[in-house]
Amino acid sequence: MIERYIRDVPDFPKPGILFKDITPLLQDGPAFAHCIDQLLALVPPSSYDVICGIESRGFLFGAPLALRAGKGFVPIRKPGKLPYKSVSQSYDLEYGTDRIEIHVDAVAKGQRVLIVDDVLATGGTMGAAVKLVRQVGGTVAGTCFLMELLFLNGRQRLSDVAVHSLVKY
Ligand code: AMP
Repeated sequence: MIERYIRDVPDFPKPGILFKDITPLLQDGPAFAHCIDQLLALVPPSSYDVICGIESRGFLFGAPLALRAGKGFVPIRKPGKLPYKSVSQSYDLEYGTDRIEIHVDAVAKGQRVLIVDDVLATGGTMGAAVKLVRQVGGTVAGTCFLMELLFLNGRQRLSDVAVHSLVKY
């Protein structure tokens, strides 16, 4: 059902990439609500204490899921966006590297964290997010995605954490 609200955009942001566009899903109230309900059912809220969302599309699903689950929300952001003391992790892109950051006091020691993003592709972004959460003392309860691009084998890179995804391509 959610697949119907995901639009494939070829050659975005560059040639050869088939972009999974979530904006039709966000635009439709009942479909968006149903999607959050499905994420809620996918990972038992008793298994985590707080949700971490990865900027920026991870915020769009992580924050409503946190609200529905009655948990707090922690942003993992692009470099230079967080106002307080932060730690950062870099990760490889097809060309060059990128970086994400988290506040040093974002999670309490041993707190169980569910990390949320929209798409699992190569797993590089989530791999860096897992390291960040551990760096600030959190325990990674699992990772959760709306979509998983199976042919990119992102799961292999995340072999030491639980990986949950709603739709597999
Ligand atoms: P990766 O680090 O390779 O797993 O890429 C994951 C990040 O890139 C996620 O934050 C996604 O939002 C984005 N991403 C990667 N591939 C796609 C795609 N085909 N469509 C939409 N977003 C993508």
